[in-house]
Amino acid sequence: MMIVNQAMKFVVGLLTLLCGVSLASAPPQSSSDPSAVDKQAIVTQAQVDHWLQIWQKRLALDEWKVQVHIVRQIDLNPDTLGHLKWSSENHTADIKVLDPRDYDMPSALIPADIERTVVHELVHLELSVLPRDGSRQVEEQVVNRMTEALLGLDRGDNYAARLAAGTVQPKLRHAMPTGDAARAK
Ligand SMILES: [Zn+2]
Repeated sequence: MMIVNQAMKFVVGLLTLLCGVSLASAPPQSSSDPSAVDKQAIVTQAQVDHWLQIWQKRLALDEWKVQVHIVRQIDLNPDTLGHLKWSSENHTADIKVLDPRDYDMPSALIPADIERTVVHELVHLELSVLPRDGSRQVEEQVVNRMTEALLGLDRGDNYAARLAAGTVQPKLRHAMPTGDAARAK
């Protein structure tokens, strides 16, 4: 019974995800948003692992051992959507992404935004080999621009139209010590 339930949950999650992709440009409808339990299933660990695998390969970060964790808001810095902590010495990195339940965003937009966090943190990781003597704000701008360019190439013209609609543009905010970086809301 347990297994059936989990399988059902996964199917519902997948359906939600597919709907999410096709309805991504729909206007916010908070009143019809699913319950917290359903919302959690919008993005599974398997899905974030899949995004990590794709983008880590594309960014040629294969020499890094990277893990991605779905965490609650309390496990992130205030007003952030993600976090990266890495060890240059061990070539390991941990990415945290915000649990869909804690997203202040229409459910349809959440999967793409969590993928955006994964890409964003991997671009930070890409830059981590450079000397960190520049402005954090400049780095954040560069990371945001590169992330949007990569996702734009991945999604095609539809992506540019969605950005122009102003639904998914992140604000710039970044002030973290060496060895970690957060994605601001
Ligand atoms: Zn950042």
